[in-house]
Amino acid sequence: MPGGALASRGMTPPLMAKSPTPQSHGFGRYAPSPSGRLHVGNLRTALLAWLIAHHTGRELLLRFEDLDADRCSPEIATGQEQDLASLGITWPQEPVFQSLRTDLYEEAIGTLRASGLDLYPCWCTRADLALAAPHDPQRPYPGTCRNLSEAKRKERLEVEERKPALRVDLGDVEIEWDDMILGPQVGRSSDPIIQRADGAFTYNLAVVVDDSSQGVDQIVRGDDLASSVPVQAALYDALASPRPTWGHVPLVLDPSGSRLSKRVGSTTLESWGRDGTALAQLGASLGLCNKTEQAITSDQLLERFDLGSINREPWTFESE
Ligand code: GLU
Repeated sequence: MPGGALASRGMTPPLMAKSPTPQSHGFGRYAPSPSGRLHVGNLRTALLAWLIAHHTGRELLLRFEDLDADRCSPEIATGQEQDLASLGITWPQEPVFQSLRTDLYEEAIGTLRASGLDLYPCWCTRADLALAAPHDPQRPYPGTCRNLSEAKRKERLEVEERKPALRVDLGDVEIEWDDMILGPQVGRSSDPIIQRADGAFTYNLAVVVDDSSQGVDQIVRGDDLASSVPVQAALYDALASPRPTWGHVPLVLDPSGSRLSKRVGSTTLESWGRDGTALAQLGASLGLCNKTEQAITSDQLLERFDLGSINREPWTFESE
């Protein structure tokens, strides 16, 4: 329910400034970080995002999440575009780059502040947080810095050499969502960091601001991000922006049962071949074609696509 986090405090949520999206439904999107070539798992998620978007009458936007300047580069983004295009994935307008949109994130922080929410400096380190809840991987923020008095916050800002991050108190709310792929889900939101100590805007803030301002109402992405839905949903509510629908795609494993990742040099399109092998294998993994149908196109996969047939189990990728 939009406005939930604020409404639960008896406040009226502010209206978020948004670009016009008065269409019956919005866009889907694929939002890679240009920090390495897309591997088989990324490509499969992108294909599924494209199929689900088009199957439900949407176009798929492409957005590069390049806020981490040390790890991302425009050259990698170009390579990712080529990989996606060679699978027959299309996008209707020029991709956007988060690094060029920081004024929007700043503006959103102003909106959160103006709405009366508590945006507070936080000096907690990872080690502090691990100590507070050592066995809970989803640990909610223990509230250490939230509970400091205004005077104490001021004092620490003056005396601490270390700069603080910026957190927002969104309350400890239970969030339910009906995931297009995983089914009904529930999780708890917790005060997210929205700006890091070095001034960088965080993924959670940027992704919500962008999806919201780009008119995205359908998000299909890897299931490693399912755990970030509660915080993101609470941010949508706080910004008085309607929540999108989410679908989280199960992992791709290698034959040893390990998760594929950019870092361990898993198969990319370059090593896999751009001759149709890749699309046929991805299509086969979704039950839409046979691995040997190397002349298959993304449009043909779309004709055969059915939301109900998505495999909810991890897919083991056997490179040949
Ligand atoms: N940029 C993220 C990634 O490359 C995806 C974020 C999202 O889809 O919300 O893993």
